[in-house]
Amino acid sequence: MIKTDIIIIGAGPVGLFTVFEAGLLKLHCHLIDSLPQPGGQCSEIYPKKPIYDIPGFPSILAGELIDNLLAQASPFKPGFTLGEAAISIDKTEDNQFIVTTVKGTQHQAPIVMIAGGLGVFEPRKPPIDNIVDYEDNGVEYIIKDPELYRGKRCVIAGGGDSALDWSIFLTEKKIASEVALVHRSSSFRGHLDSVQKVIDLADQGKIRLITEAEVTSITGNRKVEGVVVSHQKEGEMNVACDHFIPLFGLKPTLGPISDWGLEIEKNAIKVDTLDYSTNIPGIYAIGDVNTYENKLKLILCGFHEGTLAVQSAFARIHPDKKNILKYTTVNGVQGF
Ligand SMILES: Cc1cc2nc3c(=O)[nH]c(=O)nc-3n(C[C@H](O)[C@H](O)[C@H](O)COP(=O)(O)OP(=O)(O)OC[C@H]3O[C@@H](n4cnc5c(N)ncnc54)[C@H](O)[C@@H]3O)c2cc1C
Repeated sequence: MIKTDIIIIGAGPVGLFTVFEAGLLKLHCHLIDSLPQPGGQCSEIYPKKPIYDIPGFPSILAGELIDNLLAQASPFKPGFTLGEAAISIDKTEDNQFIVTTVKGTQHQAPIVMIAGGLGVFEPRKPPIDNIVDYEDNGVEYIIKDPELYRGKRCVIAGGGDSALDWSIFLTEKKIASEVALVHRSSSFRGHLDSVQKVIDLADQGKIRLITEAEVTSITGNRKVEGVVVSHQKEGEMNVACDHFIPLFGLKPTLGPISDWGLEIEKNAIKVDTLDYSTNIPGIYAIGDVNTYENKLKLILCGFHEGTLAVQSAFARIHPDKKNILKYTTVNGVQGF
């Protein structure tokens, strides 16, 4: 059981900044995210896109903003449970919340902040009937640890940056013993330099590039032993492999959050703008995941919401203590 003061579900920009604001009040946070890395939409959808409306930064890349937020939070030593979706929240008799993830990891705290943004990012799966039978037995939709593929034969499918970048990485770092990249079209959606690199590696015989083709079935007894690739002109071919990695992107769904007894409106959690509390005392919702009159889905607004929510959380955790606002310019940042 991981114990902390505040469990934050969602390690996007809003969850990360909330760690800092909680830390100033000497409250420790533990973040849970279904993605393998922190940063939410900024890391997953647009890390290289500049943002122009973060106060004090005329322009900052989304990925850089996340690096800065992580650095800003680091004096307060947040804990992380990454790559695991939170699936349930239970309350104990002594007013503690237990948040359990899909892998059974349990977290306990008197306060939960839901900073779940658009929800859990679920992988887009190819339409292969029995693909679920092979999940975690050779089929992975996200590469969490490249070492899993050391010395293995990998078939990657997809035409975006993820498929291109991982094909290059597993080949150039000599991690996988063989890499085949299968894509339905002959043109790719990824960065031009990544596309060129894949073509160069294919010309050198280091990547097997199969375009205008799709993986249509998986072979193997409980574990992936190969895939069947249907080529638009050449018909079907068998490709022996140990891993089939379809990287078709992720789609967000509110997912388990909608089953936690919270008041939901327009696919978002209704909050009181006094302190961004939900209808369940002790649970707050901040950032893109909440809704109220005049709500704006902006990072800036989420920062404000998290800041007010931790003030309210402090009062719940320490009803007998008075919290006096102190400027960081006066006090500095005193981490744990
Ligand atoms: C292309 C694009 C451009 C944008 N440009 C701007 C801009 O210029 N300026 C601006 O202010 N905003 C911009 N936005 C919006 C901005 O990215 C969002 O407002 C911001 O990311 C919200 O932050 P968040 O922390 O609330 O949620 P998110 O960034 O969505 O993070 C939520 C996290 O919660 C996790 N999560 C959800 N449910 C669970 C669960 N049950 N268990 C575990 N984890 C869970 C998700 O995996 C995700 O990582 C842009 C968005 C997009 C898509």
